[in-house]
Amino acid sequence: MNAPAPVTPGTVYLVGAGPGDPGLLTLRAAECLALADVVLYDYLVNPATLAHVTARAKRVPLGRPGTGRALTPDEITDRMVAEALRGRTVARLKGGDPSVFGRGADETAALRAAGVPFEIVPGITAALAAAAYCEIPVTQQDDASALALIAGRERNDKTESHLDYGALAAFPGTLVFYMGVGRARDWSGALIERGRSPDTPVAIVRWVSRADQTTVRCTLGTVADVIEQRGLRPPALCIVGEVVARAPAVSWFAARPLFGTRVLVPGSPVLSEKLRARLSALGAEVILSPAIRVADPPDWVPVDAALDSLATRDWLVFSSPNGVDRFFGRLFERGGDARRLGAAKIAAIGSETAERLSRFALRADLVPEEFVAESLARALVGDARGRRFLVVRGSRGRNVLADALAEAGAVVDAVLTYTSGDVEEADPDVAAALESGNIDWVTITSGSTARSLARLYGDSLKETRFASIGPIASGALRELGHEPAVEAAPHTTAALVAAVLRARHADD
Ligand code: SAH
Repeated sequence: MNAPAPVTPGTVYLVGAGPGDPGLLTLRAAECLALADVVLYDYLVNPATLAHVTARAKRVPLGRPGTGRALTPDEITDRMVAEALRGRTVARLKGGDPSVFGRGADETAALRAAGVPFEIVPGITAALAAAAYCEIPVTQQDDASALALIAGRERNDKTESHLDYGALAAFPGTLVFYMGVGRARDWSGALIERGRSPDTPVAIVRWVSRADQTTVRCTLGTVADVIEQRGLRPPALCIVGEVVARAPAVSWFAARPLFGTRVLVPGSPVLSEKLRARLSALGAEVILSPAIRVADPPDWVPVDAALDSLATRDWLVFSSPNGVDRFFGRLFERGGDARRLGAAKIAAIGSETAERLSRFALRADLVPEEFVAESLARALVGDARGRRFLVVRGSRGRNVLADALAEAGAVVDAVLTYTSGDVEEADPDVAAALESGNIDWVTITSGSTARSLARLYGDSLKETRFASIGPIASGALRELGHEPAVEAAPHTTAALVAAVLRARHADD
């Protein structure tokens, strides 16, 4: 037998994930995530950041340090090196910036020793995110000409602090303590003892840039008591300095109408992306969860035949944005373009489908008032006799429309341009968030989305509220034992977001 060919080691990307808001990832970080075969990620990393990871990549949560289930730093390094030596591309995703209290140098030393190529991708560190999201100007011409990032807790095996508290007390600027919650009495006492005023303003900022961002104001003299009384736990920063007094009571981030709201958006990529954009513009934190995976139809032959006979049709009917994409994608791939449509009229179920058509420079002649197949059927049957219809649909679509048209005397062909299959495995991060009641809303944009979600997450869905896009989605939810809290009217993503917003204000 021949010896196996030597494997070229894969590259390891040490990637800063930023403080939590998935929009704060760098473009390079997103590229590296898309390249990765394996992603190792810290508990500080918002799982929503993993939207850039491909479906085939392995995701390895490293757990919360000190919880027993977490990997030790050495185990993490070993795993990272081992995966790379097997030829895999590894993204090692760290909260904030990998070089700020991130043990980045220990990991790169191990990689260099093992001959594994690596790249370091910086990220936005928590202190700078707090400056932006809490409007604390960490440097400011009158109050702070310097900024210090300080470890509030040093390595456990260090018996004596390496920090010179005399120098820190006299520091002409802002002090930011990372990992400072557990030892606040030590560091605040040491600073006061060496001459920093106990009245110095302090802000404790927990989970900066996330839906659960909280800011507590106090002083250097009270910070340890405040942490104790409120039971504040990591991850939090303690920002010490006069600049803290310059921050407004409510920052731009905390003032957004959906601030503090976490929304799970399952479903097709097209609608999810629209919902994500709208919800996050209003300040909600969005977790995408594709419940359905869209794939090619089992057979393109009927689609190709339909594409070749387009000019003989009186009407083309599109039932979903995916159908539009796939239909015209195939037409273009085979060398054709929109001129093949000839004089055929176009109907679209739903304004999202109509909008999708507009991307191909096509205008729907008919969009029923209610965006369901029954409504389209009612609008079309009067003039259906003898007309030739092509209905473009997905594998999960219903036959209502084609049946109604055929009954009214139309010649109807339906073609399947995509299949939608269930995602079979629950995402453990999503399951955990649902179970702990950390998801405020789940949006439901179709009956099949409701059903796959129920199959994946079952009882975990009891702790959340559902926002439904319309009667079909609501009906499916009810069948599964969930009463939707709101239903959009009209049945669009814009109205769905508006309904969530209204409910949120009713809560306040
Ligand atoms: N590399 C990270 C820091 C890791 S040390 C960075 O650059 O931000 C872990 C500490 O970072 C936590 O104990 C906390 O003090 C701080 N931290 C990290 N992310 C945070 C967040 N989203 N909100 C508040 N503090 C955070």
